[in-house]
Amino acid sequence: MLQFANVNGVKQRPFKGGRGVCHTCGGAVIAKCGQIKVHHWAHESNEDCDTWSEHVGPWHLSWQNIVQDEYVEVSIAAHRADIQNSVGTVIELQHSPISPDEIACREEFYDDMVWVFDATERFPAVPSSTRAFFSLERTKHITSCQKDVFLDCGEYLIQVECFTEILDKFSGYGMMRDRGWFVSKYLDECVNVDWSPPEKSSPLKYADRWNSKQPWRLTDFPSRWRDPVSGGETNIAKKTPYIPLDYKWEGHSGPIWSEVITDHSALSNGWDVDGMEEMKLLLTGTPMILDGLLRVMPIRSEHMRAKHRVSTVQRWIDKARTHMKAGRIPILHEKTLEGLIEKAKQYEIEQNCRLMQSNAKSKRQQGKQRGLFD
Ligand SMILES: [Zn+2]
Repeated sequence: MLQFANVNGVKQRPFKGGRGVCHTCGGAVIAKCGQIKVHHWAHESNEDCDTWSEHVGPWHLSWQNIVQDEYVEVSIAAHRADIQNSVGTVIELQHSPISPDEIACREEFYDDMVWVFDATERFPAVPSSTRAFFSLERTKHITSCQKDVFLDCGEYLIQVECFTEILDKFSGYGMMRDRGWFVSKYLDECVNVDWSPPEKSSPLKYADRWNSKQPWRLTDFPSRWRDPVSGGETNIAKKTPYIPLDYKWEGHSGPIWSEVITDHSALSNGWDVDGMEEMKLLLTGTPMILDGLLRVMPIRSEHMRAKHRVSTVQRWIDKARTHMKAGRIPILHEKTLEGLIEKAKQYEIEQNCRLMQSNAKSKRQQGKQRGLFD
């Protein structure tokens, strides 16, 4: 579907009774200014010369109307780019399903390009600080994209960092952006003077169609965290979404959190596997994606067990202080840490008593035996 034609050498939108020339193939085109479809130009031959062309609806227009006409429907050999910016990057707007073959074809042809997929109310996603974790459900073709991908979720965009099946029921994750961000990154010099970013609702609306199978939970209590960059404290409120990671896929060697540590550096938050094991044990903690990163949420302090030797618990507490500074575990009260040492002492006493009792018993038995022989 054409929005522009060459009319006496000028790039023009359709007007009633208009006739012009297709700027891709040079064929004659006629203006269609009906009531139902978006006004457009149609080839007189009735066939669009560009097989990649798709129906232009309100979603396409919401993007193309951001930029000046000269950057819309830019002919590149036999194809028309939806938008090509001032430095030659093609913004490919994709509303309809597209096969992996077609994706590969366009990426090779345009080379300098980014994808924007219409994901308006299509894919469920959960926000996590500046990140969002999404599911593509059955629209798996998108994962074959090699060029940068943006999912346009309506009020926000997801700049995909990674497509991955590792997180149960998710297809990947990315940074949350808005159109203003996208425009300043890609369309700054092409933007219409009268364009302003659309207003956002607060809080943002998320497609939430997971129903009972939703793969995220809400935190039970508020927690305080150290921001490693600013050194300041941040609060994560009660009922903040998190993604639990304490499960294991069949046939995989380790739990999900260990795979996140080894394969997803954007999320791993500086953890190593041993450090995570220690904090899980010390804090009876749960590994989770919280506020966009891998963190350990401790159980409430009264339920912490610390069934380990005092020297071990002391060593782990020293490490816990480093993890706190790095925002990998929440800020713990000194009282809580002291309580852990106390619990470890109790545990050692219990263990030793039992040992002493069993020693005493065996000695008694030995004694009895000796007695028999005596
Ligand atoms: Zn044409």
